[in-house]
Order: sequence, then structure tokens, then C-alpha cells
Amino acid sequence: MLDGLKMEASLQHSTQNPASLIGSSGKERAVCEGCDRVILDRFLLRVNDSFWHEQCVQCAGCREPLTTTCYYRDKKLYCKHDYEK
Ligand SMILES: [Zn+2]
Ligand SMILES: [Zn+2]
Repeated sequence: MLDGLKMEASLQHSTQNPASLIGSSGKERAVCEGCDRVILDRFLLRVNDSFWHEQCVQCAGCREPLTTTCYYRDKKLYCKHDYEK
């Protein structure tokens, strides 16, 4: 993954068991990109190839929760306003 990657990503809400998204071994767990903790919740968000707790999906600049669209840069999520700063 390139550093400084800039992209617009759409959030995909999922109610699936995170483990089933990763593989069938049951050993791998989805780890939240935001807080580096394993996601045990039933609800998670998928941004490109990374997974997030629903509550961790917030703008790194203004801490606003992001619900539909986010902007991804340096492994952080931003709202449109902060992304364009
Ligand atoms: Zn998290
Ligand atoms: Zn923001």
C-alpha cells in the first residue's frame, strides 16, 4: 500500500460476522484500521480492503462521524471538508 494514497471510498455497512469476510479458517480476525483492535461487533464498516468499527469511522480532522462517504489518506479517514484543506 502506498503512503499518501488518496482516494474517495464508499462505506459498506456489513452485518456479517467479520471472520467470514476474511476467510473460512476462523483464525483470522478483522482488525479495525482505526484503533488496531479486533472487531468483535456484529456491525463493521469496510473501506476498500480495511475494516473499521462503526464508531471508529470518523473524520481525523474534526471527529465528525462519517456515514456515507469518506476520504482516505495516510490510513486516516476525512470528511470532504478536511480532506480538501
Ligand atoms: Zn476501531
Ligand atoms: Zn472533518
